[in-house]
Amino acid sequence: MSPILEVKGLEASYGDLTVLRGISFEVEQGGVATLLGANGAGKTTTLRAICGMIRRKGEITYDGERIDRLSTEAIVRRGIAHVPEGRGTFTTLSVEENLQLGAMTRPMGKDISADIERCYHFFPRLKERRTQQAGTLSGGEQQMLAIARALMLRPRLMLLDEPSFGLAPMITKQIFDILADVKKEAGVSMLVVEQNASLALGIADHAYLIETGEIVMAGEAQTIRDDEGVRAAYLGY
Ligand code: ATP
Repeated sequence: MSPILEVKGLEASYGDLTVLRGISFEVEQGGVATLLGANGAGKTTTLRAICGMIRRKGEITYDGERIDRLSTEAIVRRGIAHVPEGRGTFTTLSVEENLQLGAMTRPMGKDISADIERCYHFFPRLKERRTQQAGTLSGGEQQMLAIARALMLRPRLMLLDEPSFGLAPMITKQIFDILADVKKEAGVSMLVVEQNASLALGIADHAYLIETGEIVMAGEAQTIRDDEGVRAAYLGY
């Protein structure tokens, strides 16, 4: 089966600063790939480039179609949902209103309540908090809401930027367990950017190590996890 996402020779810059130097990687249909790397390596920029939020060069193929010339809106409509670092939920709206808004940009306007129930199935905590203002949720709950809102788009591919950002280990573990369920039950493919390499490798099928805008290692998650250099640099054992 061809990959759901294929990136070839992706380049991006901010002004004179070249951040991505021709990176190539894939996400399999129904699979999870992770991009690992230190601060400033270019992980966030990679996700932004895929969704057309910054100028980029190179080939990006989604579901057999080149999307590197499309607008962000057109890319989202094709079924790619981005969950940015920092979450970006609407803080003065309730949990449920945030979920309703998540469905706004998708082609079919119907069946929103069924999709909200599906989100609550994955995130029962959000159901308990459905009328609460998003800004008053805990950090972990806000991250859950950001992922649930992305699910309202009925994506086939989710781009997740540091789901563990600023969260306690126990909450992070819960969130990754839920992501594993979403992959298994809903068949959503994922590209996960993480500094917590151990967690990311736990959920991923394939991993790519990025250093100053270049992929320096690629392979099955298990193989990357067993690599001594990766262990020393990213896993701490
Ligand atoms: P982090 O985990 O810290 O977000 P990252 O691997 O996601 O790291 P990026 O955020 O992609 O890294 O940043 C890559 C490089 O691009 C860094 O040197 C960063 O300072 C620079 N950069 C990121 N965003 C901008 C911007 N809007 N304008 C200028 N430079 C930027």
